[in-house]
Amino acid sequence: MLNFYPGPSKVYPEVRDYLTMAYDEGILSIPHRGERFVLMMRELVGLLRLKLNIPQDYYIFFTSSATECWEIIAQNLTPNKSLHLYNGSFGEKWCEYAKRLKPDCYGQAFGLDEVVDAPNLPVEEDTDVICVTQTETSNGTQVSMNTLLKLQNQFKDPLLAVDATSSMAGLNLKFIRADIWFASVQKCFGLPAGLAVMVCSPRTIQRAKALNDRRHYNSLVFMYEKMLNYQTAYTPNVLNLYLLKKMLEARVLIKNVDQHLVQRALDLYAFLEEEPQMQLLVENPEVRSHTVLAVKGPDKWVQEVKRQANGQGITLGNGYGQWAKGTFRIANFPAIVDSEYDTLRDFISTHYH
Ligand SMILES: *Cc1c(COP(=O)(O)O)cnc(C)c1O
Repeated sequence: MLNFYPGPSKVYPEVRDYLTMAYDEGILSIPHRGERFVLMMRELVGLLRLKLNIPQDYYIFFTSSATECWEIIAQNLTPNKSLHLYNGSFGEKWCEYAKRLKPDCYGQAFGLDEVVDAPNLPVEEDTDVICVTQTETSNGTQVSMNTLLKLQNQFKDPLLAVDATSSMAGLNLKFIRADIWFASVQKCFGLPAGLAVMVCSPRTIQRAKALNDRRHYNSLVFMYEKMLNYQTAYTPNVLNLYLLKKMLEARVLIKNVDQHLVQRALDLYAFLEEEPQMQLLVENPEVRSHTVLAVKGPDKWVQEVKRQANGQGITLGNGYGQWAKGTFRIANFPAIVDSEYDTLRDFISTHYH
């Protein structure tokens, strides 16, 4: 079965071997304060920096999910309020979640085909964090690195936080253009769910230290203090950390992954645009995601395409949120190989030309 679901998505086939290796190496029952764990974490952090191009002075943390990162940002870095820029379900959910913890948090929606209008944003006084979803998995749009640069230049004081769940490990993110980046591993990392990577600028850590919120088990200051010794505040998902390390060892540098994925995305978009029955949800090429593609159509038709694909051994991603019924989604993630897209294209040309 080919799986184009954008999360949980196809895992690297090597994961099968890594699981056995983890068991055989005895890694599954090592103590998380012991030497072996610390060694593994040191190597993992080094590999993340090297393979994903994370700056040396940025801090790397591990949490259990992207949702947990939303929580950490609201609890530990938002004494007053955060501003959420969103055009889809994940960005909006993040806003709703933050509001429940800090009621003054507020959102600013933008259109599906719209580029975030940095200079004209209604940023209120005392905004601690500006929150952006880099790749909106629900509708296949993305916020460019250039837009992040504009936000950074325009609003100097608030931290800039970026949900990169559907792009980290796929696209060459410019980490210096924001303060906080996070992603769970069941999307572009091609691993089973239950782990997330959080990357923080020096400024973020200064902020966390100054606020010194220690009321939560996942308080950022605890995480920071523990990670100074390559440890975690609580017993972590050692298996997934191990899988992440093995997977990164086998990967090429992100610059090359990015080139490959972007080209493949452009090819897919070009192909879909040529197919009369396939209508892209996002019309503006400038904001189209390189890692999640969304195709729209009448509800009945979408259902039929998914059913027929299924019959041919192809899982397409369901739509999500307000686009649940009227779209299907195609993940363009590194674990999916080119030949699988050839099969998908053949399926579409054969049945929907
Ligand atoms: C999948 C996804 C999430 C949720 O990830 P969890 O690991 O389930 O918390 C958050 N944001 C975006 C953009 C996503 O694609």
